[in-house]
Amino acid sequence: MGGSGTGNSPCASCKLLRRRCAKDCIFAPYFPSDDPHKFAIAHKVFGASNISKMLQELPVHQRADAVSSLVYEANARVRDPVYGCVGAISYLQNQVSQLQMQLAVAQAEILCIQMQQDHIDQQITLPTTPLLFDEDDEKSFLLQNNLPQFLNFTPFNNSSSVNCDSFKKGTLYGHDMVS
Ligand SMILES: [Zn+2]
Repeated sequence: MGGSGTGNSPCASCKLLRRRCAKDCIFAPYFPSDDPHKFAIAHKVFGASNISKMLQELPVHQRADAVSSLVYEANARVRDPVYGCVGAISYLQNQVSQLQMQLAVAQAEILCIQMQQDHIDQQITLPTTPLLFDEDDEKSFLLQNNLPQFLNFTPFNNSSSVNCDSFKKGTLYGHDMVS
């Protein structure tokens, strides 16, 4: 518990490792003494000597980014010991694909509405025979109501695929029992 005697307070790394913080301490620029948790968690996951080696292999201008990446990964590893930051990455990738799905559905809906709008415009500007009107109205009505549902239920909806499987199994079993 005695004073260091050097005058300067040691960085968070040297404080935790209980050693003298040299003037050229590799940790000092990235692990200030006022944030001891930052080094503690990186040390716990990677080890001080590994962090030191990694920093020495990098040019100085890349070291700050490397440290923030190491600290992020260490925090993720503590939160999720099995997957670490891979857990967060796959969660976010999953969200991206779900949002891309929603976007595709929204774009399909926009397309349907535009087609219907075009059709209404055509009706106003170019009157044709009443028989053709009815046919086209029916088509666009079906398109507008079925396409979004089709997109919603087909690719990622588990309950619908379960239903399909159980339906197929049911018919297969039925067929087996008959033959
Ligand atoms: Zn130090």
